[in-house]
Amino acid sequence: MTNSLNYGDNLDKYKNLIPKEVEKHLPLYKALICQISDVQDKLEKNFYRVPDLEKLKQAVLDGKIKPAKYSIIEEVSGGYHLVKFSDFFETEFEKIIVNLQRIEKDLVPGKYAEYIQALISAFKNNNFIDPYKKWVQLTTLDYPVDFIILPTEPDLDKVFDSILSFDASLRVHAPNFLSYKVEEDYIKYLTSAVKTLPRLSEIHYGFSEDALKLQIRVDYNIYSAGVHFKRRFYGQNLPNEREFVINWGSKIIVYKNLVDEFSSNGASELGSKVFDNYTLTSEELSRAVSEKLLVHEVTESLMKFEGDSARLGKSYFKVREMNAEMSGIKNYILFLLKLEDSARGMHNLATAYILSALDYYRRKHAPEDRSAHYHGYMAAINYFAEKGGIKFVEGNKLTCDTKIILKSISELSDILVSLLIKGTQQEAQDFFEKYSSEDLPKRALNIK
Ligand SMILES: [Zn+2]
Repeated sequence: MTNSLNYGDNLDKYKNLIPKEVEKHLPLYKALICQISDVQDKLEKNFYRVPDLEKLKQAVLDGKIKPAKYSIIEEVSGGYHLVKFSDFFETEFEKIIVNLQRIEKDLVPGKYAEYIQALISAFKNNNFIDPYKKWVQLTTLDYPVDFIILPTEPDLDKVFDSILSFDASLRVHAPNFLSYKVEEDYIKYLTSAVKTLPRLSEIHYGFSEDALKLQIRVDYNIYSAGVHFKRRFYGQNLPNEREFVINWGSKIIVYKNLVDEFSSNGASELGSKVFDNYTLTSEELSRAVSEKLLVHEVTESLMKFEGDSARLGKSYFKVREMNAEMSGIKNYILFLLKLEDSARGMHNLATAYILSALDYYRRKHAPEDRSAHYHGYMAAINYFAEKGGIKFVEGNKLTCDTKIILKSISELSDILVSLLIKGTQQEAQDFFEKYSSEDLPKRALNIK
């Protein structure tokens, strides 16, 4: 039986959004996602089936064994060898295959059916790259919901960063999200966002020719399990590997159910507590946070430069994530400026950013919890404060000056783009060090 801690079910909440043709397969999708939850559980405890992990690390360093995607490492009579997922999970995978075949036989021929067929093969022959590629390229026109049960992230392998973790979800589009004007306007926005980013990567060139190489979804999770369920990312862009993005394109997902939860559970309350004059409704907050996520993911998927991660070393993730935030918002503002009533939208965006930063600090400021996102949020709010964009007034409440904040975001974007293109690890480290003070969030949140 599935551990309910690792599986999410929102069917009751979003039932009326399920397309007719998908309805009859819901029990099969649910079973599949539960099965992945079990696989993921077992996987985490079995990445390294060795008595001495330090010894294994040394063996990898010495080149005696090379960790591989979709395999676990086992030690047998003193020697290390790789065991394919499909061999290790043989019984589990057989059951998954049966359920996939049940769905597949009802599908009309087309890209979605081909994707499900590729999944069936992958669970037999361990080649998960093929369905992964097909999944990235699937659009809403191919099938009305999105479904994934694949290893996609190196997230859970803390030692070698090479073994991918399973992700699993069945999602429906959040209605009307992307059509705040009309869909054409949205494509125009994307194209203009792509055009305003520095034209230095081949990914970027590819996407300017074909904006539809970027698949963008703002979704509600019906069922979910695996790594993104555990980590509760609000947004994601896949694949992570630069070569894959160049060849396949990129798929971006904003998990609106989580953003809605964030807005209605506590974030709005936090807003009234920390800001002097907080006026955002919970819907406005949810929309602004979703927009921030969306532009983050778009920017992140486009701005991958040759050699960036090797050059920036340990600071790479911090620079990449903060650049996605700052350059994403900067470009989005250029788009917002063309709309009527852009002032309100910009105010909401600036407020939502600071609120997200404070909420993040509140939840994850213990030294062992500090992620790349943490350092980015800290650098941004300290920079805003330095420029006078956020200030304390009476009662330790904060006031924001939207104009100064947006100008600061644009300046930060310039700094980060430059780091990403030609900066060194030391320069990046110095930048984050300079803006790492915790005084502001501590005072705003009343944490000693
Ligand atoms: Zn990111």
